[in-house]
Amino acid sequence: MTCETMKYDAIVLGGGPTGATAAFEMARRDLKVLLLEKSEFPRFRIGESFLPETYLQLKDMGLEQAFLELPHVEKLGGSFMLGHGQQEPADFWFQNGLVNRNSKSFNIERAPFDAMLLDAARDAGVDVLQSEKVTGITRLEDDDVEIVSTSGVKKARFLIDATGGATVVARHLGSKVKFPELSNVGYFAHFTGVQRNEGDKGGFARIVMCEDAWFWLIPIDERRTSIGVVADHTFAKRVNVPAARFLEWAIKRCPVMAEMCSNAVACEPHELPAGTNHVEADFSYQCKPYAGSGYFLCGDAATFIDPVFSTGVCLGMRSGEDAAKSVAAIIKQGSKASRVRRGFIRRASTSSSPMFKLVRMFYRHQFRELFLFGKGPLSLHGAVLEVLRGNVFPKPRFGVTWRFNLFIFFCWLQRYVNVTPSLEKFWLESGSTESPARTRKSDLGEKEMKLAE
Ligand SMILES: Cc1cc2nc3c(=O)[nH]c(=O)nc-3n(C[C@H](O)[C@H](O)[C@H](O)COP(=O)(O)OP(=O)(O)OC[C@H]3O[C@@H](n4cnc5c(N)ncnc54)[C@H](O)[C@@H]3O)c2cc1C
Repeated sequence: MTCETMKYDAIVLGGGPTGATAAFEMARRDLKVLLLEKSEFPRFRIGESFLPETYLQLKDMGLEQAFLELPHVEKLGGSFMLGHGQQEPADFWFQNGLVNRNSKSFNIERAPFDAMLLDAARDAGVDVLQSEKVTGITRLEDDDVEIVSTSGVKKARFLIDATGGATVVARHLGSKVKFPELSNVGYFAHFTGVQRNEGDKGGFARIVMCEDAWFWLIPIDERRTSIGVVADHTFAKRVNVPAARFLEWAIKRCPVMAEMCSNAVACEPHELPAGTNHVEADFSYQCKPYAGSGYFLCGDAATFIDPVFSTGVCLGMRSGEDAAKSVAAIIKQGSKASRVRRGFIRRASTSSSPMFKLVRMFYRHQFRELFLFGKGPLSLHGAVLEVLRGNVFPKPRFGVTWRFNLFIFFCWLQRYVNVTPSLEKFWLESGSTESPARTRKSDLGEKEMKLAE
Protein backbone atom coordinates (compact mmCIF):
# COMPACT_ATOMS: atom_id res chain seq x y z
CA MET A 1 0.00 0.00 0.00
CA THR A 2 1.35 3.51 -0.73
CA CYS A 3 1.07 6.37 1.73
CA GLU A 4 -1.61 7.91 -0.56
CA THR A 5 -3.95 4.92 -0.29
CA MET A 6 -3.16 3.85 3.28
CA LYS A 7 -5.12 5.12 6.27
CA TYR A 8 -2.58 5.79 9.02
CA ASP A 9 -3.24 5.81 12.76
CA ALA A 10 -1.72 9.28 12.80
CA ILE A 11 -0.16 11.83 10.50
CA VAL A 12 2.42 14.13 12.06
CA LEU A 13 2.94 17.46 10.36
CA GLY A 14 6.50 18.78 10.75
CA GLY A 15 9.72 16.91 11.49
CA GLY A 16 11.35 19.25 14.07
CA PRO A 17 12.07 17.96 17.59
CA THR A 18 8.37 18.01 18.51
CA GLY A 19 7.10 16.15 15.45
CA ALA A 20 9.98 13.64 15.43
CA THR A 21 9.40 12.87 19.13
CA ALA A 22 5.64 12.48 18.69
CA ALA A 23 6.13 10.17 15.69
CA PHE A 24 8.88 8.17 17.45
CA GLU A 25 6.74 7.64 20.56
CA MET A 26 3.74 6.50 18.52
CA ALA A 27 5.83 4.10 16.45
CA ARG A 28 7.21 2.68 19.74
CA ARG A 29 3.60 1.95 20.65
CA ASP A 30 3.00 0.04 17.40
CA LEU A 31 0.97 2.75 15.71
CA LYS A 32 1.24 3.30 11.97
CA VAL A 33 2.55 6.81 11.51
CA LEU A 34 3.29 9.11 8.57
CA LEU A 35 5.42 12.23 9.09
CA LEU A 36 5.46 15.03 6.53
CA GLU A 37 8.25 17.61 6.54
CA LYS A 38 8.39 20.43 4.04
CA SER A 39 12.17 20.89 4.05
CA GLU A 40 15.08 18.52 3.52
CA PHE A 41 17.11 17.78 6.69
CA PRO A 42 19.58 18.85 7.95
CA ARG A 43 18.16 22.38 7.93
CA PHE A 44 19.08 25.45 9.97
CA ARG A 45 16.96 26.25 13.00
CA ILE A 46 17.64 28.58 15.91
CA GLY A 47 17.23 27.29 19.51
CA GLU A 48 20.47 25.65 20.60
CA SER A 49 20.36 25.81 24.39
CA PHE A 50 18.60 22.85 26.05
CA LEU A 51 17.20 22.27 29.52
CA PRO A 52 18.23 19.31 31.74
CA GLU A 53 14.73 17.87 31.30
CA THR A 54 15.43 17.29 27.60
CA TYR A 55 18.44 15.14 28.38
CA LEU A 56 16.29 12.99 30.69
CA GLN A 57 13.77 12.61 27.89
CA LEU A 58 16.45 11.65 25.35
CA LYS A 59 17.66 9.00 27.81
CA ASP A 60 14.11 7.65 28.15
CA MET A 61 13.94 7.46 24.36
CA GLY A 62 17.18 5.46 24.26
CA LEU A 63 18.89 8.23 22.28
CA GLU A 64 21.51 9.32 24.82
CA GLN A 65 24.41 7.79 22.87
CA ALA A 66 23.27 9.11 19.47
CA PHE A 67 22.94 12.54 21.05
CA LEU A 68 26.36 12.50 22.75
CA GLU A 69 28.03 11.56 19.46
CA LEU A 70 27.02 14.92 17.98
CA PRO A 71 29.25 17.96 18.61
CA HIS A 72 27.87 19.65 21.73
CA VAL A 73 28.84 21.68 24.77
CA GLU A 74 27.88 20.64 28.28
CA LYS A 75 25.98 23.39 30.05
CA LEU A 76 26.00 23.37 33.84
CA GLY A 77 24.02 26.54 34.28
CA GLY A 78 23.63 30.09 33.09
CA SER A 79 24.84 33.60 33.71
CA PHE A 80 22.69 36.73 33.73
CA MET A 81 24.09 40.27 33.62
CA LEU A 82 23.02 43.82 32.90
CA GLY A 83 24.11 45.54 29.69
CA HIS A 84 26.14 48.28 31.38
CA GLY A 85 28.40 45.71 33.08
CA GLN A 86 28.48 47.61 36.37
CA GLN A 87 27.09 44.60 38.18
CA GLU A 88 28.85 41.23 38.58
CA PRO A 89 27.11 38.50 36.51
CA ALA A 90 24.75 36.30 38.54
CA ASP A 91 25.58 32.64 37.96
CA PHE A 92 22.98 29.87 38.21
CA TRP A 93 24.00 26.25 38.57
CA PHE A 94 21.39 23.67 37.67
CA GLN A 95 22.69 21.48 40.51
CA ASN A 96 21.39 24.05 43.01
CA GLY A 97 17.74 23.25 42.29
CA LEU A 98 15.48 21.76 44.93
CA VAL A 99 15.48 18.21 43.60
CA ASN A 100 18.49 16.10 42.66
CA ARG A 101 17.54 14.50 39.34
CA ASN A 102 21.05 13.71 38.15
CA SER A 103 20.57 15.22 34.73
CA LYS A 104 22.91 17.09 32.42
CA SER A 105 22.25 19.84 30.01
CA PHE A 106 23.72 20.84 26.69
CA ASN A 107 23.99 23.37 23.92
CA ILE A 108 23.96 21.93 20.45
CA GLU A 109 23.61 23.02 16.84
CA ARG A 110 20.04 22.29 15.82
CA ALA A 111 20.54 21.04 12.25
CA PRO A 112 22.37 17.80 13.24
CA PHE A 113 20.29 17.37 16.40
CA ASP A 114 16.97 17.63 14.57
CA ALA A 115 18.26 15.29 11.83
CA MET A 116 19.29 12.73 14.47
CA LEU A 117 15.80 12.77 16.00
CA LEU A 118 14.11 12.45 12.61
CA ASP A 119 16.37 9.49 11.76
CA ALA A 120 15.41 7.89 15.07
CA ALA A 121 11.72 8.25 14.20
CA ARG A 122 12.33 6.65 10.80
CA ASP A 123 14.31 3.81 12.40
CA ALA A 124 11.43 3.26 14.83
CA GLY A 125 9.13 2.57 11.85
CA VAL A 126 7.68 5.96 10.93
CA ASP A 127 7.11 6.66 7.22
CA VAL A 128 8.97 9.95 6.77
CA LEU A 129 8.48 12.12 3.69
CA GLN A 130 10.73 15.19 3.33
CA SER A 131 10.28 18.04 0.85
CA GLU A 132 6.60 17.33 1.45
CA LYS A 133 4.63 20.46 2.30
CA VAL A 134 1.16 20.22 3.78
CA THR A 135 -1.04 22.61 1.83
CA GLY A 136 -4.56 21.87 3.04
CA ILE A 137 -6.74 20.09 5.57
CA THR A 138 -9.92 18.72 4.01
CA ARG A 139 -11.34 16.67 6.93
CA LEU A 140 -10.62 16.99 10.63
CA GLU A 141 -12.67 14.73 12.91
CA ASP A 142 -11.78 11.92 15.30
CA ASP A 143 -11.02 8.83 13.18
CA ASP A 144 -11.45 10.82 9.98
CA VAL A 145 -8.59 13.08 8.96
CA GLU A 146 -7.66 13.99 5.42
CA ILE A 147 -4.93 16.38 4.35
CA VAL A 148 -3.36 17.48 1.10
CA SER A 149 0.39 17.70 0.68
CA THR A 150 2.91 17.99 -2.17
CA SER A 151 2.43 14.43 -3.41
CA GLY A 152 -1.34 14.21 -2.92
CA VAL A 153 -4.07 13.32 -0.43
CA LYS A 154 -3.25 11.47 2.82
CA LYS A 155 -5.65 9.91 5.37
CA ALA A 156 -5.37 9.07 9.05
CA ARG A 157 -7.39 8.62 12.24
CA PHE A 158 -5.63 11.52 14.01
CA LEU A 159 -3.48 14.51 13.16
CA ILE A 160 -0.61 15.86 15.25
CA ASP A 161 0.43 19.34 14.26
CA ALA A 162 4.12 20.03 14.94
CA THR A 163 4.72 22.56 12.19
CA GLY A 164 6.22 25.13 14.59
CA GLY A 165 5.52 28.77 13.81
CA ALA A 166 3.72 27.77 10.59
CA THR A 167 0.86 26.59 12.91
CA VAL A 168 -0.87 24.79 10.04
CA VAL A 169 -3.89 23.51 12.00
CA ALA A 170 -4.42 26.73 13.98
CA ARG A 171 -4.38 28.73 10.75
CA HIS A 172 -6.92 26.32 9.30
CA LEU A 173 -9.11 26.79 12.39
CA GLY A 174 -8.38 30.51 12.77
CA SER A 175 -7.35 30.00 16.40
CA LYS A 176 -3.91 31.67 16.45
CA VAL A 177 -3.73 34.63 18.85
CA LYS A 178 -0.61 36.80 19.22
CA PHE A 179 0.61 38.21 22.55
CA PRO A 180 0.79 41.94 21.76
CA GLU A 181 2.76 42.69 24.96
CA LEU A 182 5.52 40.33 23.73
CA SER A 183 5.81 41.68 20.25
CA ASN A 184 9.54 41.08 19.88
CA VAL A 185 11.96 40.45 17.04
CA GLY A 186 15.02 38.16 17.20
CA TYR A 187 18.24 38.83 15.24
CA PHE A 188 20.88 36.12 15.35
CA ALA A 189 23.98 34.54 13.79
CA HIS A 190 26.92 32.24 14.64
CA PHE A 191 30.40 33.55 15.46
CA THR A 192 33.89 32.33 16.27
CA GLY A 193 36.32 34.21 18.53
CA VAL A 194 33.75 35.14 21.19
CA GLN A 195 35.12 35.40 24.75
CA ARG A 196 34.00 32.48 26.91
CA ASN A 197 33.81 31.86 30.61
CA GLU A 198 36.62 29.87 32.18
CA GLY A 199 36.41 26.30 33.46
CA ASP A 200 33.06 24.77 34.47
CA LYS A 201 31.27 27.92 33.39
CA GLY A 202 32.57 27.56 29.81
CA GLY A 203 29.28 26.10 28.54
CA PHE A 204 27.02 28.54 30.38
CA ALA A 205 24.29 30.20 28.37
CA ARG A 206 24.86 33.91 29.00
CA ILE A 207 22.05 36.44 28.97
CA VAL A 208 22.78 40.18 28.82
CA MET A 209 19.81 42.32 29.79
CA CYS A 210 18.91 45.80 28.62
CA GLU A 211 15.59 47.53 29.23
CA ASP A 212 14.60 47.44 25.58
CA ALA A 213 16.38 44.27 24.45
CA TRP A 214 18.34 41.26 25.66
CA PHE A 215 21.17 39.19 24.19
CA TRP A 216 22.04 35.52 24.33
CA LEU A 217 25.49 33.97 23.93
CA ILE A 218 25.42 30.19 23.62
CA PRO A 219 28.58 28.19 22.90
CA ILE A 220 27.46 25.42 20.53
CA ASP A 221 30.76 23.65 19.95
CA GLU A 222 34.46 24.21 20.58
CA ARG A 223 34.67 27.11 18.14
CA ARG A 224 31.26 28.56 17.54
CA THR A 225 28.95 30.68 19.65
CA SER A 226 25.36 31.43 18.80
CA ILE A 227 24.59 35.09 19.49
CA GLY A 228 21.27 36.81 19.22
CA VAL A 229 19.42 39.85 20.39
CA VAL A 230 15.69 40.03 21.07
CA ALA A 231 14.26 43.54 20.89
CA ASP A 232 10.88 45.10 21.33
CA HIS A 233 9.61 45.64 17.79
CA THR A 234 8.62 49.29 18.27
CA PHE A 235 12.11 50.11 19.56
CA ALA A 236 13.68 48.14 16.68
CA LYS A 237 11.57 50.16 14.23
CA ARG A 238 12.32 53.46 15.92
CA VAL A 239 16.11 53.18 15.75
CA ASN A 240 15.93 52.74 12.01
CA VAL A 241 18.76 50.22 11.63
CA PRO A 242 18.41 47.73 8.72
CA ALA A 243 17.02 44.44 10.10
CA ALA A 244 19.82 42.46 8.47
CA ARG A 245 22.45 44.47 10.39
CA PHE A 246 20.65 44.96 13.68
CA LEU A 247 22.72 42.43 15.64
CA GLU A 248 26.03 44.05 14.69
CA TRP A 249 24.64 47.46 15.61
CA ALA A 250 23.27 46.24 18.95
CA ILE A 251 26.49 44.47 19.97
CA LYS A 252 28.53 47.62 19.37
CA ARG A 253 26.09 49.63 21.40
CA CYS A 254 26.13 47.47 24.53
CA PRO A 255 29.38 47.68 26.56
CA VAL A 256 29.24 44.13 27.92
CA MET A 257 28.52 42.63 24.50
CA ALA A 258 31.09 44.81 22.73
CA GLU A 259 33.78 43.52 25.06
CA MET A 260 32.85 39.84 24.79
CA CYS A 261 32.61 40.12 21.01
CA SER A 262 35.69 42.28 20.36
CA ASN A 263 37.30 39.44 18.32
CA ALA A 264 34.11 37.83 17.04
CA VAL A 265 33.92 36.79 13.38
CA ALA A 266 30.67 35.66 11.77
CA CYS A 267 30.80 32.05 10.58
CA GLU A 268 28.75 29.23 9.10
CA PRO A 269 25.99 28.13 8.75
CA HIS A 270 25.85 31.37 6.96
CA GLU A 271 24.14 31.94 3.72
CA LEU A 272 24.47 35.53 4.92
CA PRO A 273 26.93 38.28 3.89
CA ALA A 274 29.40 39.20 6.67
CA GLY A 275 27.97 41.57 9.27
CA THR A 276 24.38 40.48 8.68
CA ASN A 277 22.03 38.29 10.70
CA HIS A 278 18.95 36.07 10.53
CA VAL A 279 15.67 37.70 11.58
CA GLU A 280 12.62 36.10 13.21
CA ALA A 281 9.56 38.09 14.23
CA ASP A 282 6.06 37.35 15.50
CA PHE A 283 7.12 34.34 17.56
CA SER A 284 4.85 34.91 20.59
CA TYR A 285 1.33 33.46 20.26
CA GLN A 286 -0.97 30.71 21.41
CA CYS A 287 -3.46 28.52 19.55
CA LYS A 288 -6.16 27.33 21.94
CA PRO A 289 -7.63 24.77 22.34
CA TYR A 290 -4.49 22.63 22.10
CA ALA A 291 -6.59 19.64 21.03
CA GLY A 292 -9.93 19.11 19.32
CA SER A 293 -11.80 16.53 17.30
CA GLY A 294 -9.17 14.72 15.23
CA TYR A 295 -6.12 16.76 16.26
CA PHE A 296 -3.46 17.57 18.87
CA LEU A 297 -1.24 20.65 18.70
CA CYS A 298 2.30 20.31 20.05
CA GLY A 299 5.39 22.43 20.52
CA ASP A 300 5.49 25.73 18.68
CA ALA A 301 2.42 24.69 16.68
CA ALA A 302 0.46 25.07 19.95
CA THR A 303 2.15 28.06 21.55
CA PHE A 304 5.45 29.88 21.85
CA ILE A 305 6.08 32.75 24.15
CA ASP A 306 9.72 33.84 24.18
CA PRO A 307 13.16 32.24 23.91
CA VAL A 308 14.76 33.85 27.00
CA PHE A 309 14.79 30.75 29.20
CA SER A 310 15.39 28.25 26.38
CA THR A 311 12.18 26.36 27.06
CA GLY A 312 11.04 25.78 23.45
CA VAL A 313 12.60 22.41 22.61
CA CYS A 314 11.84 21.06 26.09
CA LEU A 315 8.15 22.01 25.93
CA GLY A 316 7.94 20.78 22.35
CA MET A 317 9.43 17.35 22.95
CA ARG A 318 7.43 16.74 26.13
CA SER A 319 4.19 17.80 24.45
CA GLY A 320 5.03 15.60 21.45
CA GLU A 321 5.43 12.66 23.79
CA ASP A 322 2.16 13.48 25.54
CA ALA A 323 0.27 13.73 22.25
CA ALA A 324 1.70 10.36 21.19
CA LYS A 325 0.57 8.76 24.45
CA SER A 326 -2.84 10.36 24.03
CA VAL A 327 -3.33 8.97 20.52
CA ALA A 328 -2.13 5.55 21.72
CA ALA A 329 -4.59 5.66 24.64
CA ILE A 330 -7.48 6.30 22.26
CA ILE A 331 -6.48 3.78 19.59
CA LYS A 332 -4.84 1.01 21.61
CA GLN A 333 -6.70 1.18 24.91
CA GLY A 334 -10.05 2.42 23.64
CA SER A 335 -10.04 5.47 25.95
CA LYS A 336 -12.69 8.07 25.23
CA ALA A 337 -11.18 10.72 22.93
CA SER A 338 -12.84 13.69 24.63
CA ARG A 339 -11.52 12.64 28.06
CA VAL A 340 -8.01 12.03 26.73
CA ARG A 341 -8.05 15.44 25.05
CA ARG A 342 -9.07 17.19 28.27
CA GLY A 343 -6.11 15.59 30.07
CA PHE A 344 -3.72 16.62 27.28
CA ILE A 345 -4.94 20.21 27.37
CA ARG A 346 -4.74 20.37 31.17
CA ARG A 347 -1.17 19.02 31.26
CA ALA A 348 -0.06 21.34 28.45
CA SER A 349 -1.33 24.32 30.47
CA THR A 350 -0.05 23.33 33.92
CA SER A 351 3.44 22.44 32.71
CA SER A 352 3.97 25.53 30.57
CA SER A 353 2.32 27.99 32.97
CA PRO A 354 5.30 28.54 35.37
CA MET A 355 7.66 28.91 32.41
CA PHE A 356 5.37 31.48 30.83
CA LYS A 357 5.02 33.35 34.12
CA LEU A 358 8.78 33.52 34.38
CA VAL A 359 9.11 34.86 30.85
CA ARG A 360 6.57 37.59 31.47
CA MET A 361 8.30 38.56 34.72
CA PHE A 362 11.68 38.69 32.96
CA TYR A 363 10.58 41.83 31.13
CA ARG A 364 10.17 43.68 34.44
CA HIS A 365 13.20 45.25 36.00
CA GLN A 366 12.07 44.29 39.53
CA PHE A 367 12.21 40.64 38.58
CA ARG A 368 15.75 41.09 37.30
CA GLU A 369 16.78 42.73 40.56
CA LEU A 370 15.52 39.79 42.59
CA PHE A 371 16.77 37.24 40.12
CA LEU A 372 20.28 38.71 40.00
CA PHE A 373 20.42 38.94 43.77
CA GLY A 374 20.55 35.14 43.61
CA LYS A 375 19.72 34.23 47.18
CA GLY A 376 16.80 34.55 49.51
CA PRO A 377 14.82 32.77 52.21
CA LEU A 378 13.00 29.45 51.94
CA SER A 379 14.97 28.23 48.89
CA LEU A 380 12.85 30.42 46.64
CA HIS A 381 15.60 30.59 44.03
CA GLY A 382 15.79 26.79 44.09
CA ALA A 383 12.16 26.69 42.95
CA VAL A 384 12.89 29.11 40.11
CA LEU A 385 15.80 26.86 39.11
CA GLU A 386 13.51 23.83 39.01
CA VAL A 387 11.36 25.64 36.46
CA LEU A 388 14.49 26.65 34.52
CA ARG A 389 15.59 23.00 34.52
CA GLY A 390 12.24 22.09 32.98
CA ASN A 391 11.16 20.04 35.99
CA VAL A 392 7.48 20.87 35.43
CA PHE A 393 6.09 17.71 33.75
CA PRO A 394 3.35 16.69 33.97
CA LYS A 395 3.00 19.46 36.55
CA PRO A 396 5.39 21.18 38.96
CA ARG A 397 5.65 19.65 42.45
CA PHE A 398 3.84 21.36 45.30
CA GLY A 399 7.17 22.37 46.93
CA VAL A 400 8.15 24.11 43.70
CA THR A 401 4.78 25.75 43.09
CA TRP A 402 4.36 27.56 46.41
CA ARG A 403 7.96 28.77 46.48
CA PHE A 404 7.74 29.87 42.87
CA ASN A 405 4.52 31.80 43.51
CA LEU A 406 6.07 33.44 46.58
CA PHE A 407 9.04 34.49 44.46
CA ILE A 408 6.65 36.05 41.94
CA PHE A 409 4.90 37.85 44.83
CA PHE A 410 8.25 39.31 46.00
CA CYS A 411 8.91 40.54 42.44
CA TRP A 412 5.63 42.40 42.57
CA LEU A 413 6.49 43.74 46.07
CA GLN A 414 9.87 44.98 44.81
CA ARG A 415 7.99 47.59 42.78
CA TYR A 416 6.97 49.30 46.01
CA VAL A 417 9.56 48.30 48.64
CA ASN A 418 13.20 47.34 48.13
CA VAL A 419 13.22 43.63 48.95
CA THR A 420 16.72 43.55 47.35
CA PRO A 421 18.95 46.50 46.39
CA SER A 422 17.78 48.27 43.25
CA LEU A 423 20.00 48.11 40.17
CA GLU A 424 20.68 50.68 37.49
CA LYS A 425 19.00 50.06 34.14
CA PHE A 426 20.70 50.10 30.74
CA TRP A 427 18.99 51.03 27.47
CA LEU A 428 20.28 49.95 24.09
CA GLU A 429 18.40 52.80 22.45
CA SER A 430 20.29 55.48 24.37
CA GLY A 431 23.41 53.28 24.71
CA SER A 432 23.55 54.33 28.36
CA THR A 433 21.85 54.28 31.75
CA GLU A 434 19.88 57.35 30.65
CA SER A 435 16.29 56.68 29.67
CA PRO A 436 15.97 57.08 25.86
CA ALA A 437 12.97 59.36 26.37
CA ARG A 438 15.54 61.95 27.48
CA THR A 439 18.16 61.26 24.83
CA ARG A 440 15.95 60.22 21.90
CA LYS A 441 16.73 61.65 18.50
CA SER A 442 14.95 60.53 15.39
CA ASP A 443 18.11 59.69 13.41
CA LEU A 444 19.82 57.78 16.20
CA GLY A 445 20.28 54.54 14.29
CA GLU A 446 21.66 56.12 11.15
CA LYS A 447 24.15 58.11 13.17
CA GLU A 448 25.33 54.99 14.94
CA MET A 449 25.74 53.17 11.66
CA LYS A 450 27.82 56.01 10.28
CA LEU A 451 29.97 56.05 13.44
CA ALA A 452 30.42 52.29 13.17
CA GLU A 453 31.64 52.64 9.60
C1 LIG B 1 15.02 33.71 18.46
C2 LIG B 1 14.70 32.33 19.03
C3 LIG B 1 15.64 31.69 19.85
C4 LIG B 1 15.33 30.44 20.41
N1 LIG B 1 16.24 29.83 21.27
C5 LIG B 1 15.90 28.66 21.86
C6 LIG B 1 16.80 27.99 22.75
O1 LIG B 1 17.90 28.45 23.01
N2 LIG B 1 16.40 26.80 23.28
C7 LIG B 1 15.19 26.23 22.99
O2 LIG B 1 14.87 25.16 23.52
N3 LIG B 1 14.34 26.83 22.14
C8 LIG B 1 14.65 28.02 21.57
N4 LIG B 1 13.80 28.61 20.69
C9 LIG B 1 12.55 27.92 20.40
C10 LIG B 1 12.77 26.69 19.53
O3 LIG B 1 13.48 27.04 18.36
C11 LIG B 1 11.43 26.08 19.18
O4 LIG B 1 10.62 26.06 20.33
C12 LIG B 1 11.60 24.66 18.65
O5 LIG B 1 12.27 24.65 17.42
C13 LIG B 1 10.21 24.03 18.49
O6 LIG B 1 10.32 22.81 17.83
P1 LIG B 1 9.11 22.34 16.90
O7 LIG B 1 9.50 20.98 16.44
O8 LIG B 1 7.84 22.54 17.62
O9 LIG B 1 9.12 23.36 15.68
P2 LIG B 1 10.23 23.59 14.55
O10 LIG B 1 11.57 23.28 15.07
O11 LIG B 1 9.98 24.93 13.99
O12 LIG B 1 9.87 22.51 13.46
C14 LIG B 1 8.71 22.62 12.68
C15 LIG B 1 8.92 21.88 11.38
O13 LIG B 1 7.71 21.90 10.63
C16 LIG B 1 8.02 22.06 9.29
N5 LIG B 1 6.85 22.62 8.59
C17 LIG B 1 6.36 23.88 8.69
N6 LIG B 1 5.30 24.03 7.89
C18 LIG B 1 5.10 22.85 7.27
C19 LIG B 1 4.15 22.37 6.33
N7 LIG B 1 3.19 23.17 5.83
N8 LIG B 1 4.25 21.10 5.88
C20 LIG B 1 5.23 20.28 6.38
N9 LIG B 1 6.16 20.67 7.28
C21 LIG B 1 6.09 21.93 7.72
C22 LIG B 1 9.21 23.00 9.27
O14 LIG B 1 9.96 22.87 8.09
C23 LIG B 1 9.98 22.53 10.51
O15 LIG B 1 11.01 21.61 10.20
C24 LIG B 1 14.09 29.83 20.12
C25 LIG B 1 13.19 30.48 19.28
C26 LIG B 1 13.48 31.71 18.73
C27 LIG B 1 12.48 32.39 17.86
